[in-house]
Amino acid sequence: MSVAKIQGKKMFLAGEWVHRHRLIEVRDPKDNSLITTVPAAGANDVLYAIEEAKEGAKIAAAMPVHERIAVLNRAADRIAANKEEYALTIAREGSKTIKEARKEVARCIETLRLSAEEARRINGETIPFDQMPGNENRIGYYYRFPIGIIAAITPFNDPLNLVAHKVGPAIAGGNAIIVKPATVTPLSALLLAEAFDQAGLPPKVLSVITGYANEIGDPLVTHPDVRMISFTGGMSTGEAIARKAGLKKIAMELGSNSPVIVLSDAEIDDAVESTVSGAFWAAGQNCLGVQRVYVEEAVFEEFKEKFVERTKQYRIGDKLLEDTDMGPMITDKEAIRVENWVNEALDKGATLLCGGKREGAFYMPTVLTDLPDNCTLAKEEVFGPVVTLYPVRDLNEAIQESNRVHYGLQAGIFTRDLEKAFEAIQRMEVGGIMVNDSSDYRIDAMPFGGVKGSGLGREGIKFALQEMTEPKVVCFKLAKNKL
Ligand code: NAP
Repeated sequence: MSVAKIQGKKMFLAGEWVHRHRLIEVRDPKDNSLITTVPAAGANDVLYAIEEAKEGAKIAAAMPVHERIAVLNRAADRIAANKEEYALTIAREGSKTIKEARKEVARCIETLRLSAEEARRINGETIPFDQMPGNENRIGYYYRFPIGIIAAITPFNDPLNLVAHKVGPAIAGGNAIIVKPATVTPLSALLLAEAFDQAGLPPKVLSVITGYANEIGDPLVTHPDVRMISFTGGMSTGEAIARKAGLKKIAMELGSNSPVIVLSDAEIDDAVESTVSGAFWAAGQNCLGVQRVYVEEAVFEEFKEKFVERTKQYRIGDKLLEDTDMGPMITDKEAIRVENWVNEALDKGATLLCGGKREGAFYMPTVLTDLPDNCTLAKEEVFGPVVTLYPVRDLNEAIQESNRVHYGLQAGIFTRDLEKAFEAIQRMEVGGIMVNDSSDYRIDAMPFGGVKGSGLGREGIKFALQEMTEPKVVCFKLAKNKL
């Protein structure tokens, strides 16, 4: 089908739905077929969105909390009423199967409802100024006010809910927000904008600008009127943005190569089920995805056999079929990168337990062991369906190995021994640790984010709302001392 015959989508610019002459083709990764087009925004569109957002920020800040709550809940209602359309959009433009996509939609609704609830709790505190001698006649408090214009830059792998994780708290906090979604998956973000438009969000408060990072990234990131960048994506992109951003707040949700520890007293079948799912969710393109599994030697063989057997049962194929477990990677190029990393590991001595094959963008769920330290897979985030099993002597070795990377988002440990669980909780360098679950566990209300190269700041609505508001101190000087 030629582009001209397709009814292209518009982008959402300061409350208006607009076309642009230049187009970006949105393709289904399963076979590279064209789904539709979106405008290729230019730097001028970004500058316009920022200019309008200055007014939008005033409008948003002036919206009473009950109106913010109502808009957020109405947007959630719209999504709930059309949830299959949202799920199909996620599944078509991205990597997720329809079952995975439905879960993302349910989480997005939850994210917006949580944002509505948290808007009620933007609290301050009174300040006992008289703790400092000479201030007996002062009384005051701080409250939180909106930060202003927020730029949200989002990745392809959760194209709806990760956008909602920025838009929801931004609106709850009374800010204007400009979203730049991943170029390969802009449609879910545009559908989210549609929900807010229909929910009655005032114009100029939200823009969703579709465009290539190398054309619209810098104007958005470097603009002095943007007060905060909320970024989710890869570590090197995050670092590049941080270098350019200048004097503004930055929140960074970056990647990881998450570890899971399985001790010999663990429920092995539970650990296998949970780590297989955590490794291959969204074809392994998941910031929390299980990449490294450290298993105590006493149960290594049993765990390995069961893990490989379960992996081989995975059904790979058409994302829209109900019984498909795993779809393609986001592009052929990404699948080729993963293939190269695995081949490099095999060349250097790794053992392939299953998988290791590619067809187009489909990369088969792959399990390795004997991975040498000097290959890319051992150090970097694979962001694909590849997991490595390591035998370890004991918990101490497992923790040391887990920490030996420059990432630290989440981890998991399977054990029935409370002392050992607590030791891992204390020593593992991560933003979250799941006991008797894999690293791939999250609800939208919990603080979420990483240490080391995995990020700065926390999302999770209550926590994002803190980042997206600033305290303002108020102090009254009285003529007389306090009573
Ligand atoms: P990416 O390549 O870093 O891209 C993320 C976003 O940044 C895209 O919208 C991209 O636009 C944009 N971008 C790229 N270069 C930019 C620049 N110089 N200035 C401004 N924007 C720029 O990441 P991805 O491949 O989409 O996503 C995968 C990564 O995200 C993985 O590392 C994963 O772990 C991480 N992630 C982290 C979390 C978390 O919450 N911690 C959640 C999900 C994913 P274009 O699409 O136009 O290039």
